[in-house]
Parts: sequence; C-alpha cells; structure tokens
Amino acid sequence: MLQWSDLKREKNFIAGEWVDAAGGVTVPVVDPSTGEQIGTVPNAGATETRRAIDAAAAAFEDYRELTAAERAKMLRDLSTAIMDHQAPLAELLTREQGKPLAEAKGEVGMSAAYILWFAEEARRIYGDVVPSPWKQRRILVTKEPVGVVAAITPWNFPSSMLARKIGPALAAGCTVVAKPAMQTPYSGLAWGVLAEQAGIPAGVLNIVTGSARDIGGELTSNSLVRKLTFTGSTPVGKLLLRQCADSVKKVSMELGGNAPFIVFDDADLDRAVEGAIAAKFRNAGQTCVCTNRVYVQSGIYDRFVKAFADATLKLVVGSGFDAGVTQGPLIDDDAVSKVEEFVADAVSKGGRIVTGGKRHARGGLFFEPTVIAQATASMKFAREEIFGPLAPVFRFETEDEVVRAANDTEYGLACYFYTGDLGRAMRVSEKLEYGLVGINEGLITTEVAPFGGYKESGVGREGSKYGIEDYLQVKYTCIGGLGA
Ligand code: NAP
Repeated sequence: MLQWSDLKREKNFIAGEWVDAAGGVTVPVVDPSTGEQIGTVPNAGATETRRAIDAAAAAFEDYRELTAAERAKMLRDLSTAIMDHQAPLAELLTREQGKPLAEAKGEVGMSAAYILWFAEEARRIYGDVVPSPWKQRRILVTKEPVGVVAAITPWNFPSSMLARKIGPALAAGCTVVAKPAMQTPYSGLAWGVLAEQAGIPAGVLNIVTGSARDIGGELTSNSLVRKLTFTGSTPVGKLLLRQCADSVKKVSMELGGNAPFIVFDDADLDRAVEGAIAAKFRNAGQTCVCTNRVYVQSGIYDRFVKAFADATLKLVVGSGFDAGVTQGPLIDDDAVSKVEEFVADAVSKGGRIVTGGKRHARGGLFFEPTVIAQATASMKFAREEIFGPLAPVFRFETEDEVVRAANDTEYGLACYFYTGDLGRAMRVSEKLEYGLVGINEGLITTEVAPFGGYKESGVGREGSKYGIEDYLQVKYTCIGGLGA
C-alpha cells in the first residue's frame, strides 16, 4: 500500500505522465495547522492546460468506444483503490487542509462511494424509443458523452468535490481536465495516482495546478472543452459562466450557500442542538451547506441558546492529527479575519457573544467556536456566507415570518428545520426555496441523493441518478424509409 508521502505528487498529470510546468516554476503548499511548507506544485498556465485538453480530446476517441461494463469496471477499481488507501489519503488531506483526521477519512470514504455509485450508473444510461407519428419511420433517443470536461474544485473538500465530477464524467464516457484548488492541490493530484492504479487509460484524466486565471481562461475558451463543472464561490462561478458563453459550453455550477437552520417551539431540543452542532461546525464551518443563520422560535429561544452554547464548549480545537480534536484551523488568515469582522459587526449592532468570539489561544489560524445571540437581519452574516465557526442565533415568532426570513437571500443551497408537527414539516419544506432540505436532520449529504442549489447557489445536480445527466447529450435519430 502507498503511504501519504507516495500519494503526494509534486508534478502535474497530463496524458498519463507526471510533468513539471514550463521552466519548472512551482508554488509552495502550506499546512494550515502549523504554517509550515509541506511541498510545492507546478505553477502551470495556459500552455500546459492546452496540452492537457489535447490529451483529453485524443483519449476521448477511444474511451467513448468502451462498453458501459468496461467503464463500470474501471470505476469500481478506482473506488477500490481509494478505499485501499483511505488512511494515507486522509492523512494527506488533513496535512494540506487541516480538518480532523476522522472527517478526512469520512471525506475519502465519500469519494469512494460517489465513484462506486457512478460505476453503477454507467450501466443505466438508457434512451427511449418514442411512438412515431409516421407509419414508415421510427424515433430513437440516445444519450452520448458530451466530450472533454473541465472540472474546477475548491479547497474545503479537496477529495470528494472531484469525485462528484470525475465519477459521472468517466461513467458517461467523457474525459477530464481537472484543476484542484491551489491551497489543497495534493488530494487532487492523488487522483492521478489512483487512476494509474485502476488502469484508467492515459489522457482520460488529466490534472493541472497553477494560475487559476490562466488555467480557467484556457479551460473556458478552448472549444475542445464541451463542458465546465465548477464548485466554488458564487462570484467566481458567475465569472466562469460569462467566460463559457462565447463557446456555449454545457455548465454545472455548485456555488455558495447561506443555509438557515430553523428550530420551532415544538422541536426536540436535544436533537436540534446535536443537528446544529453538526450543521455548523463540521470542517470548522467551512462547508457550502454549513448553517449560516440559526432561527429559533421565541418559546424555546433561551433554552436552545444555552444548550447550544454548552455543546459548543465541548468542541475541541487543535491539529487535525491530535486525538479527540473536532475543529481544525481555518484555511488562511483572510478566512480568520473575515470571521473576526462578522463578530465585530454583530457586536456593534447589539449582538451578544455567548461563547467564543475571538482567535483561539493557540494562535495561528485557529478560531474559537462561537455563538452569538440576539442576531438581527441588519448584521452582515444575515446576507453573507460566513465560512467559519460562528453561529448567529436569530429569534422569531411565527412560521410565516421565519419562512420569509429564510428565503430572503440570493442563495438557495441547503436548509434545515426542526419540528415535531408533520403538517408543519410538509408546509415549511414546500415553501423553502432550497435544493436540499433537512427536516430534523443536520447532516444529509449522500451519493444517492441529488446535491445542488436553487437561485445563485448553482445550476445542475451532483450525485444520484440525476448527476450523470449533466455529462450527457441527447440525440434524436429518425429512421425512415421503412415501407408504406
Ligand atoms: P473559489 O475562490 O471560488 O475557488 C474555487 C476554485 O476556483 C479554486 O480551484 C480556485 O483556484 C478557482 N478559481 C478562482 N478564481 C478563478 C478564476 N478566475 N478562473 C478559474 N478558476 C478560478 O472558492 P473557494 O474559496 O475555494 O471555496 C469556497 C466556496 O465554495 C464557498 O463559497 C462554498 O460555499 C463553495 N462550495 C460550494 C459547494 C457546492 O457544492 N455548492 C461545495 C463546496 C464549496 P485557486 O485555488 O487557485 O484560487
């Protein structure tokens, strides 16, 4: 079995070869927990990206001809290779991203699960035979791979965000050029090692690291690329959508969120607290589905705030490698400063810090798990994505009021609410303008269900039976001359 240091590749993966950027220029990679440099990766640009696209386009010719069973077998082998290396992949992930090792193992397990799911879906890309309006003609509808896929992913889930793209792309018969985030490139480059292990043909998966603008510019303007799948912030997603317009690419966008977490008076308090802790503090609050706004009905507000703050105090901040740690560092100093700004803004407008509220005593990029009560709509975090371990708790009186407040955002990714009333559960879930709804559950992501947002949280769905559709195009074939 390979160790984490064998999986940590300091080169790009193009046409089945490990290569440097032109001139051997590199960029350092830093462990956010210690601030120490852990290595470098190539600083590639448009030239290397063009080479990767050409390799993917060449590989597509043969790869698309494989049978569904052959593609499924490769993906099953890829899933097995991931699980065989779950521990070292998790170690690599924690080293570059900082999350607790148990969470990293969970993420790697999710990657394997997504790949396995799409191995199964590869054999279910069905078409239709449509009843013909003409006696002498037949109508066939078939699905074909879109072609070369560009995939750009963020640092918060550096392994599983790629799994949700590589899985359906390869299952559909597409080839891929991936660009992982520069703060966590090693978990992305490790997919090259895993592809080698699974016997995936050279050029089917290519991975480049370097200048986001130059790589992104080439990926979006090159007409050989027929689809862009992006996970990241809404502003960058909008920019890439504009860039894709000139060559009219198919696009999938998994963008930012501003998840409400609503607790009604009739909720099970302990369950709601447990769900809020999971929905807020996983990955130090740095997930797109992390709750950004906790709304609690006035009859249960004080009891909830106390129980939630008590549970928050039990979180253990430290290096992701230390036993018992539940919250690692934030990704960089900008992220820490942003949380500090949210706290200062809230306090200046009447917010009350119940627990936490400042940088952690251990210094570096660690921040105290924080709960702020008396949150109001005028505070910045009501509108902006926090992406850190800060939970603002808002008070509300009525169902209509809280549904209005929850929907009062341009985002629409995940939302959660807790109630013991079945009628309310159905009513509220139907009114919430979100792609994912957790009722009495705070962690709901699974490869078998569709993941994706309404409004400015995105376009398309990942995972589930819907996830493969974004990598396929529909062909109508009319067969005529079949006789009178
Ligand atoms: P980001 O700044 O948008 O970066 C995401 C990726 O885009 C990175 O690989 C980044 O490269 C690249 N990028 C940045 N500027 C680019 C450009 N001009 N052209 C091409 N690529 C460009 O987002 P982030 O800070 O990494 O991630 C956090 C965001 O992702 C949050 O908003 C979160 O909600 C969202 N997210 C959404 C989902 C979802 O499924 N909806 C899941 C996870 C995260 P560099 O690293 O080199 O800058």
